[in-house]
Amino acid sequence: MNQPKITVIGSINMDLVTETDIMPVQGETVRGTNFRTVPGGKGANQAVAAARLGAEVTMVGRVGDDQFGDVLMDHLRKENIQVDHVDHVRDTPTGLANIILSEQDNRIIIIAGANGKVTKDYIEQIKAAILKSDYVLLQFEIPKETIVYSMELCHKHGIPVIVNPAPAMELDQATWEQATYITPNETERQQLFGNQPNEKLIITKGKQGVSFVEAGKEQEVTGHSVDVVDTTGAGDTFNGALAVALAEGQALTKAVTFANAAAALSVGKIGAQGGMPTRDQVEQFLR
Ligand code: ADP
Repeated sequence: MNQPKITVIGSINMDLVTETDIMPVQGETVRGTNFRTVPGGKGANQAVAAARLGAEVTMVGRVGDDQFGDVLMDHLRKENIQVDHVDHVRDTPTGLANIILSEQDNRIIIIAGANGKVTKDYIEQIKAAILKSDYVLLQFEIPKETIVYSMELCHKHGIPVIVNPAPAMELDQATWEQATYITPNETERQQLFGNQPNEKLIITKGKQGVSFVEAGKEQEVTGHSVDVVDTTGAGDTFNGALAVALAEGQALTKAVTFANAAAALSVGKIGAQGGMPTRDQVEQFLR
């Protein structure tokens, strides 16, 4: 089978993870216990998931003119992701998440940085590359205007799009209509769509699996019972895998089954990208 071509238009972040036994209160300085940098961002995560599962993946996004930008570009290349359309923005930091973890609590500050500069004009400039895709994947960590424009562009040219509405943000009804599939988790579904049945929705329900409507009928794909180490990135793995399976022409139920298995495997290891499985691992798991 030809490798499916997937383009991810989205965020690229460095997560700065600081661990501490004591969470500092206002004005206080404490000694932490550990620090690490971890590549993340929903866009980059979904690109990695799709590339590990065998797709030809192009990332469209931006990084800053700092060292994190270079590190993240190298990281994407090592994951066999095409980065010709990831550029460096001047005088802007790379997108990042500042994460402080203690046993009792976590506190997170997100800086959009260069992700906030993935503009409509930038998409317009490189649209020829996007229009070569079998499937496009979008999440909501880049400006709304860019998301709306990308959905319009793909719709106009008949390129199917999976929209992962995370973090949740409202779009006009007419814009939602331009998505091929929309993949909220249960919280996002409630917030954005309430309980209305909708043929475009593929709802992820954590360990319970996935539900969707096909030919007017509610369908369920049951979650797998697995040992959970870290569920960060489960949704990203699901979306990357779903895009691969649909781009290969798999029927909806089969594609959801594949993505549900890939996502279940991802929760067995630490980090969003750390547990993302290869094609062989998913196929073996489903055997
Ligand atoms: P998000 O991570 O975006 O909040 P979910 O929690 O719904 O999304 O997880 C996405 C998918 O990952 C689920 O539909 C399921 O396939 C898989 N998954 C998540 N948590 C578990 C779990 N504890 N056990 C098995 N599969 C899981």
